[in-house]
This record gives sequence, structure tokens and C-alpha cells, in this order.
Amino acid sequence: MKENFIAYPSPNHDLRKGGQNTIDTLVIHYTGMISAQKALERMVSPSAKVSAHWCIDEDGTIYKIVPENLRAWHAGISWWRGRRDLNDVSIGIEIVNPGHEFGYRPFTPPQMNSLVNLCQEILKRNPIHPLNVVAHSDIAPDRKKDPGELFDWSRLARKGIGIWPNSIKTSPWHRPLKLNDHNSEVKLWQSKLAELGYGLVQDGIYGENTELVVMAFQRHYRQARIDGVIDHGTSNILDHLIEYAKAL
Ligand SMILES: [Zn+2]
Repeated sequence: MKENFIAYPSPNHDLRKGGQNTIDTLVIHYTGMISAQKALERMVSPSAKVSAHWCIDEDGTIYKIVPENLRAWHAGISWWRGRRDLNDVSIGIEIVNPGHEFGYRPFTPPQMNSLVNLCQEILKRNPIHPLNVVAHSDIAPDRKKDPGELFDWSRLARKGIGIWPNSIKTSPWHRPLKLNDHNSEVKLWQSKLAELGYGLVQDGIYGENTELVVMAFQRHYRQARIDGVIDHGTSNILDHLIEYAKAL
């Protein structure tokens, strides 16, 4: 299926440092602005210095902002699976939604249909590992919440886009780990989060950064409760995903 789109070109791009063959990551965002028009205007404004490759409006319209072979400016300071500055290697899709600041609301069915079609085409064109289909909040947990806990990652995974914990592995019970804890168990779970791709220091200290990473993990994979606590439910999902990822 070929995606239909409207060209809405932005000057906010440059060359990918490693060339276009380096594309291996897909980053999903929400626009976080009061209207689609405002978001589109911002992405083509030279002074804003931001953009994405694609933008999907709530009626399902797809806008092509930056050609995929070029480097769009959507990720900012970021880290995933051992690499920083994901703009070099990623394709960025902005989904129109006012976001947590201006009235976060469910993504619309036409929007999600368009997104699934677009992502499937992107995955055909580019060798993107399922673990590299990420939220902006996954790669910049200290700054970003998008696309947030209303985003239907399970639907994407059912369509072959990214991963989702379908069956939950039951891990050995442990007491909840939370901010200011400091022990070897914290270090163990930090290493598991890092194994999945998150950027955090594995020092056994449950500091603010660890809490933010746990919240990013929950926003993606355990959307019912985002509290930054590694409870048994959170660790079950994390263990399952690590096992699943190993089998990929
Ligand atoms: Zn974003």
C-alpha cells in the first residue's frame, strides 16, 4: 500500500552524518501544541529549528515535512541502545495531539490508521529493529512525555511495528523499589532497563534519573500506572520484554 500525503516541506533539516543508509530507528512523537496548524507552522519556521519527517493530523491526513534521506530535527538530546543524538539515524513522526500541556486526548482512529500504514511503509524501506521503534520519551526521559500513555503501542505491535508484552512472565516477587532506595536490587533493574535500550547510570542508586526512566518505561509498556516505582507488575513486563527481545 502506498501512503498518500500532502507535501509541507520544511527548511529545518541537514545531512545525516553517516548518510541515509544509517537509518535504523523510528521515533514517535505528539505535537504538543494547541492545533495542527500551529504545529505545522512551527515545523517549517526557520527560527524554530525543529521538524520531523512526517506529521499526521487528527483526520488522518499525512504531511511530508522532510525527505527521509535527510536529517530532521525532532529528537534533540537523546540516547538509545548505546547511541546519542538519534536524529542522525532515525525517522521522526509527529502525531497531532495537544499533549499533556494543552489537553491530552485519545489519538483518533483515522490518525492511527494512517500511522500504521505509514509505519509499515517505513519499515519496508528501512531496516528498523523492533526494539528501535521508540517513543520520544524513551530516548529523552528527562525532558519528554510524548506520545504518552494514551498511545496504542499494542496495536502497532500487532501490525508488526515494535514490541508489546503479550504474555507476562512472572518474575520472582520483590518489594517495590523506589526513589532514594540504594541497593544491589536497584542495580539489577537498572541493568535490565539499560538492556532494553534506556540510558541510565547503573549505580544501584534510585535517583531522579532512574525514576524518570521507569516512568518512561511505564508510559510505553505499563500505561495503567505511571508512578516511577519498580513494582512487581513493572518488573514482570520488563523481564518478559527482555526475553522477547532476545528471541528476535
Ligand atoms: Zn517529541
